[in-house]
This record gives sequence, C-alpha cells and structure tokens, in this order.
Amino acid sequence: ELREAESLRRKLHNEIQELRGNIRVFARMRPALQHQGNSLATVRFPNPKEARSIEILSAGESATGTATMRTFQFDFDHVFGPDATQRDVFDEVQHLMQSVLDGYNTCVFAYGQTGSGKTHTLEGSGLPTANYEASSVSEGAGLIPRAVQMLFATAEALKDKGWSYDFSGSMLEIYNETINDLLGKADPKSTTPVKHEIQHEKGRTTVSDAVVLPLSSPQQVFALLSRASARRSVAATLMNERSSRSHSVFTLRVRGSNSTTMESCDATLSLVDLAGSERLANSGSGDDPRRLKEAVSINKSLSSLADVIAALGQGKAAGHVPYRNSTLTWLLKNSLGGNSKTLMLTSLSPVAEHLGETVASLRFAKLVNGTIIGTAKKVRASE
Ligand code: ADP
Ligand code: MG
Repeated sequence: ELREAESLRRKLHNEIQELRGNIRVFARMRPALQHQGNSLATVRFPNPKEARSIEILSAGESATGTATMRTFQFDFDHVFGPDATQRDVFDEVQHLMQSVLDGYNTCVFAYGQTGSGKTHTLEGSGLPTANYEASSVSEGAGLIPRAVQMLFATAEALKDKGWSYDFSGSMLEIYNETINDLLGKADPKSTTPVKHEIQHEKGRTTVSDAVVLPLSSPQQVFALLSRASARRSVAATLMNERSSRSHSVFTLRVRGSNSTTMESCDATLSLVDLAGSERLANSGSGDDPRRLKEAVSINKSLSSLADVIAALGQGKAAGHVPYRNSTLTWLLKNSLGGNSKTLMLTSLSPVAEHLGETVASLRFAKLVNGTIIGTAKKVRASE
C-alpha cells in the first residue's frame, strides 16, 4: 500500500509538472560585495511571499527634459533577492533530484554576466573535502554539492525498496564551439588538442575520447569537480579569464534498477555554468580579434539555447528544433526536450553600472520563459 501511495504521489507530481510544462526560469540577484562599494541599482521585490517578481527602476529623462523613473517588472517561477541563502535556492530545486532518480533527464543552466553569481549559485564556496560527512554540506555550498549529496542519500534510502543506483560523471568545457575534456589527461598547454566528437545513439549521447568516471560516493564527485576546476584555472591563466568565456558542463549519469519490481531507469543531470552573457561593447575587449571570436561563439550558443528552449516550449507546433546550431545545444540534445526538465537560473548583479546587462539578462530569461507559456496557450486556443 505504501508503495502504491508513493507511486501515486510521484505520478501526480509528474502530471502537475507536465501540465505546467517542463521548463522553469528562476532569477537570483546577488548581494553587493563588501569590498566593491559600487552604487547599487534601484530594485524592488514585490510580494516577497510569492517571490515571483522583480522590479527594476531606471532614471531617465522625458522628451521635455524632466527627470522620469521607468519601472521594468519581470515575473518568473521564482525570484531570489540578495538575502536568499544557498539553501533557499536548493529548496526550490531539490524536487528535480527526485525526477532524476525517477529517470528524467534534467538540465540546469546558470545564465548571466560575468561576476553576477553563476558559479556561486552552482558550486558555491568551499567544496566539501575528504572529511566531509554525507549528512552535511557547508552553508556556502551551492547547488551541485547539495544535489550530489541528496542524490546519493536518496539512492541509499531507496535500497530498502529494492533499488540500486550507479553514478558516473564527466566534466566538459565548450570554448569557441570546441569541446575540451576537463578530466582528460592531455596537457592543457598542448598545442594539438584532442578532437572530441559528439555522437547520439538511441537517445544517449557520447563524446569521443572524453573521460567518464564511475562515482560511488559524493566524495568522489567532489574530487572530480576539484580536479576539473584546477584544470580550468590553469587554462585561465594562459587564456586570460577563459573560464568566463567558456561553458562548463558537468554531467552526472544515474542508472537505477529495482530487483523486486524489475523496473529500471537511466537519466542524466547536466549542470551548466554558461559563459558570461555580457555584450562585447561592455566587456572592454575593444577590437581584439580573439575577443571578437569568443564573443561571436558565446552569442551563437546562448541564442541557440534560447531558440531551442523556445521551440521546445511550442511543442509540436515548433516542428524543427534547431539543436545543431551550436555545440552546446547539440551536446545537450538528449537532455533538452522529450520528457526532460530544464531549469534556467538567471544571475543578476545589483550594481547600478551593470543595469543595462541586468535588464538584458532579465529579457533573455523572459524570452525563454514567456515564449513558452504564451505560445503553448495560443496554440491550444486556436485549435
Ligand atoms: P560568475 O560565475 O557569474 O562570473 P561568481 O559566482 O564568480 O560570478 O560571483 C562573483 C563574486 O560574487 C564572487 O566573489 C562570489 O563569491 C560573489 N557572490 C556571487 N553571488 C553571491 C551571493 N549570493 N552571496 C555572496 N556572494 C556572492
Ligand atoms: Mg563563474
């Protein structure tokens, strides 16, 4: 009976998810950083209980020269203000971990300009070390360590019901539309990098010559992450802050089988720290051709991502989904669309000087979110 109730609960949960669509968009504004002392934008969070709206106030001038205040309001599935803790964010995300164990592919994207808090939200501070106890992560820990901890703990608890789970992981970087393996053996200074090809077969994606590590404990995942981040920072000193101009894609594959019910599941959780979304004119890169190439690649992948998500949101009406338009969307093809779940976490800076980028990020997030809901409704209404 208990099992029946549990499966009914899951079924209901999934049906509700399906009704609302499988795409969620959150926004999070980071606090001011003490050492910076910048002046701050005027921002309001109306209806803090519902936590779905953010208002940006912008000073301007009317045609007649009088000072005016314009208000931009944006609504999302959830909005986190500067006081939100890492735990508050995870509270709104954790149900996705159950979905992963139920066999749903899930993608989480952190989007926003450099310095807005993408890496903080995903990784946070102080990755748990070898001494870490499975029941606790530090307050500063971001979504990835929390997700990993919860997945392993839930898998452990499900043993009683006959489930056994296998985890494996990879960590890739996409820079200028090319894949690099952050767990690869190749010397990052090597001038002849390994060429990685993306292959899709029977709903599964593989990347040629990319390391996939079996993971049997959260500690092993954290070791993988610190290995990748060490590799990334080596490259950063060579390439001048390359990490903000590349996407990093952490993929955790979760395979489960139940010896009692003979059920099985196989899903991937992809957590993607996107390249900084700032526009070229603002990034101080002038007419450096290398910067231009980076900016073009980033723009291509971020706009392809928005196109793909928007097309998916339109369901069958969309017809063709343009996965092939960028390496990022092609890599994630099997995890975007179908039954998969997607969460876009938009990071925002509170600094007045960044207001233009903040509004641009909110518009991007709205495009991802709004197009979907709006179009899906329209299609049904005209039928
Ligand atoms: P990004 O990855 O988008 O470039 P970071 O995550 O590196 O940005 O954040 C930039 C700085 O702001 C870092 O020093 C980070 O620790 C800090 N920061 C970002 N978000 C928060 C937050 N919610 N609370 C406290 N500090 C934050
Ligand atoms: Mg970052």
